[in-house]
Amino acid sequence: MKKIARTRDDEPETHDVKTHDAKIHHAKNMTRDNDLTALIAAAVAARQTAYAPYSNHPVGAAVRTVDGRVFAGCNVENAAYPLGNCAEAGAVSAMVLAGARALDHVVVVGPTTGEACTPCGGCRQVLREFAVPGAGVTICGPDGTVLLRTTCGDLLPHSFGPANVGEVRGE
Ligand SMILES: [Zn+2]
Repeated sequence: MKKIARTRDDEPETHDVKTHDAKIHHAKNMTRDNDLTALIAAAVAARQTAYAPYSNHPVGAAVRTVDGRVFAGCNVENAAYPLGNCAEAGAVSAMVLAGARALDHVVVVGPTTGEACTPCGGCRQVLREFAVPGAGVTICGPDGTVLLRTTCGDLLPHSFGPANVGEVRGE
């Protein structure tokens, strides 16, 4: 689409608006992709430190806060099996410890390439507590290859959250 704008000297000046907008859109996407690349790298690295001798299912996770900070976690198992902690919960704990309270993306890196290592039910609730509306979820294989892209809302529809208890607390 060509748009003709008149300059002060009334000389026609053409702008390819569509191309211009596409370039801006592309630039924004590039920024997001670069951010996600760093987030994926953090989760891949976190997986290397996982303590999963019982399941042999090491997982890494990384959350990105709304102000761009990245916090990672890995799963930590225990000889008393139910006491193991998930990678997503570890990443959220690190985020909260740093004083952050809102995340806009989480990356989970699992050991499998065929089946996406989606967050367990408990972790979906943990993430929901701090996820901003529309927060993204990206599941990757061990080398960071993206297997699934979804959102926290899609993983836990009609969720129970702070607003549900706020009413009881009179907030
Ligand atoms: Zn979990």
